[in-house]
Amino acid sequence: ASLFSAIEMAPRDPILGVTEAYNADQNPAKTNLGVGVYYDDNGKVPLLECVKKAEAELAAKLAPRTYLPIDGLATYDRAVQELVFGAGSAVVTEKRAITVQALGGTGALKLGADFLKHFSPAGTEVWISDPSWENHRALFEMAGFKVNAYPYYDPATRGVNFAGMLEALKTMKTGSVVLLHACCHNPTGADLTDDQWTQVIEVVTSRGLVPFLDMAYQGFGDGIAEDGQVVRRFAEAGGPLFVSNSFSKSFSLYGERVGALSIAAASAEEAARVLSQLKRVVRTNYSNPPIHGGQVVATALASPELRKLWEDELAEMRVRIREMRQLLVAKLKEKAPGHDFDFVIKQRGMFSYSGLTKAQVERLRNEFSIYAVDTGRICVAALNTKNIDVVVDAIAKVL
Ligand code: PLP
Repeated sequence: ASLFSAIEMAPRDPILGVTEAYNADQNPAKTNLGVGVYYDDNGKVPLLECVKKAEAELAAKLAPRTYLPIDGLATYDRAVQELVFGAGSAVVTEKRAITVQALGGTGALKLGADFLKHFSPAGTEVWISDPSWENHRALFEMAGFKVNAYPYYDPATRGVNFAGMLEALKTMKTGSVVLLHACCHNPTGADLTDDQWTQVIEVVTSRGLVPFLDMAYQGFGDGIAEDGQVVRRFAEAGGPLFVSNSFSKSFSLYGERVGALSIAAASAEEAARVLSQLKRVVRTNYSNPPIHGGQVVATALASPELRKLWEDELAEMRVRIREMRQLLVAKLKEKAPGHDFDFVIKQRGMFSYSGLTKAQVERLRNEFSIYAVDTGRICVAALNTKNIDVVVDAIAKVL
């Protein structure tokens, strides 16, 4: 037998599978709501003006492509840290936080997972929400962890099963890693309220759990500072804290792979030791991150003019998604009276657990060439003023 003869075919990625099926569909009226990408009202992935301008500045410099430091571009790391924790926050001014540039949010999660696997006591387990972004479980399992799920989504209320979540947090072993979505929960769109976060922070802190906040959608919920609030509150609570963030969506820089991992420690001295070890994780994986995406984001965040432009462009994306939620609900009220979709307006971020069943999703695909994820997750950011009527008519027919 050869090395490969016993290797089984890996399961297909459920979401990429949706896109493959969509691509193969010959119907010109097809619509893909299965994606995890923001599209503008013309159904295009935008190239932001702030990115174009930052790239023009960078191109004019004609700088050589040297290696970046292991932890990435210093100006980028500083800007990310201030964005994530707040410029004047104690963790930043006391130098208790460290930030390393990472290959998107996924890369940040993997750096954190590898670091935790190396430095947590044997037997440490990871908890993710039920459901969660489909890569969370696989990523932490690949890093060597046992991964459990805490209750999160409640199909009956189409909101959060908060009592179940809190109860689960109270039974986790001290030192367990708890992955939390800082805002815009993927896939459900259901977020905790401020008061619920207060309770979560209290339990996590008092029980010595290790919070790992994944923030892939900062700015898509209620605003950049508003969405970052949970991170700041956890940082103020004082325990160890991991934060992965991504600019894939907020700068529309998907393929450039720009994200970061930040860790808050108890002191500057502790933070320095953590950084030194985190750099070893980077060094032994890919040595140092790529230069372009980080430079674009650092340039845009450092220039008051470009930063304002970015904030405006991000607000435009946020507002458009909100409008699509409103429009979807209003049109469904008309076309499918008797079905309550008001929960869609309360959801935050790019996604909605629409409540559509697997059978209804199949009918949408087979009869109308409308592609959603089997769980009923739709990407609200893939709706636009041109396709919404087709989508609403089809949903009304399969309900
Ligand atoms: N975390 C969550 C919750 C996500 O939804 C995503 C992307 O869809 C990521 C992380 C990964 O982000 P990136 O594409 O920057 O790796």
